[in-house]
Amino acid sequence: MSAPASVALAVLTLGAGVFIGALWAGRRARPAGHETGPNLADLLHRLVNSSHSGLAVVNQHGDVVLHNQRAIELGVVRDDVGDDRAIKACEQVISSGLPLEVDLSPLEHRGRQPEAVMGHIRPLGDGFAAVDAEDTSDAVRLEATRRDFVANVSHELKTPVGAVGLLAEAVLDAADNPEEVHRFGTKILNEATRLGALVTELIALSRLTGAERLPELAVVEVDDVVTEALARCRLAAESSGITIKVDEPSGLLVDGDRTLLVTALSNLVDNALAYSPPEAPVTVSRRRAGDMVEIAVADRGIGIAPEHQQRVFERFFRVDPARSRATGGTGLGLAIVKHVAANHGGDVQLWSSPGVGSTFTIRLPAREQASAPSPAQSKTKKIGTEAPRGPVPGHPVIRV
Ligand code: ADP
Repeated sequence: MSAPASVALAVLTLGAGVFIGALWAGRRARPAGHETGPNLADLLHRLVNSSHSGLAVVNQHGDVVLHNQRAIELGVVRDDVGDDRAIKACEQVISSGLPLEVDLSPLEHRGRQPEAVMGHIRPLGDGFAAVDAEDTSDAVRLEATRRDFVANVSHELKTPVGAVGLLAEAVLDAADNPEEVHRFGTKILNEATRLGALVTELIALSRLTGAERLPELAVVEVDDVVTEALARCRLAAESSGITIKVDEPSGLLVDGDRTLLVTALSNLVDNALAYSPPEAPVTVSRRRAGDMVEIAVADRGIGIAPEHQQRVFERFFRVDPARSRATGGTGLGLAIVKHVAANHGGDVQLWSSPGVGSTFTIRLPAREQASAPSPAQSKTKKIGTEAPRGPVPGHPVIRV
């Protein structure tokens, strides 16, 4: 610590008179032989240096007389000189005697410095002010995500609502033409269905991301989840002419919320159907892998380019927005899958190759059974030569 810093430390020491008095009283009460150890100045020094905040004391001439290492890390002090904005704020605080908050975010990115820093400036009296700076990057990032999300939701809702309005006008104009009324009426129904799906998925997502507690977890049979998810997707499969191949029941169990798991799996199967050409096979399989249960959905569809593979799990990210909308997609399906897996203590794995296909695998901690299935039972059954394969060795797999 520099010489001026020691002076300021003495100032702080004096300022902390009550604290010192209490400690002193405690010391006097102790028997002789316990007098060794750090003195109060040492303790204050340690306190300042161990703080998670960037601390600096500035005098009325704008000199930094004391600072800790964290103040350097946050960019508040460089080469013993204070950030201009912090010094100006200190001068103001010293003359007014009133505390102040000032944005001390780095103006340019340097090394490991945080993105956002907030400084709280307080008067210390006798011509000194203290800067107490904190890293607010996480809060700023969270706020930006929230703003983006609200903007996205508004946009996503505006489009179908606008369409319903225009279509309703068209119905009124065509009141005398039953064919036109039918055509526009069908379109209104499609838009209304899309709106309904979007609202349902938004509610599901808000529950999953902490607005509401997850219901109690129960023992869930993986085979039931697969059966129910496939039942939900049957119509979509029939209309796309795609056959879904399924392996044998496994008897595997997980601790979970059955409805959420069915939603997650049917989102994956719906996507496999939506992003595959007609008659390309889709495979659903389950197996035990170590401590985990894996449920995989593999397709031979359009695949996902490597640069998009992480991003497809973000809310409202679509590789091809027009195609997603044409298939009634909300852009929330994979975000839901990711959160469902995470809330069950698992994750989602993606292997994909453009033009070859994709395999999404939900991995959940397995529940131990009284009579565990034999290795033969828990292995994925061979499904047929034309069925899509999972990850190919040498191709990277991402996990979210
Ligand atoms: P959407 O409602 O648009 O399908 P999702 O969150 O389910 O939203 O998926 C996000 C994006 O990921 C999709 O728009 C699509 O571009 C891509 N995607 C998802 N699943 C597949 C798949 N099986 N094959 C190819 N692309 C996919």
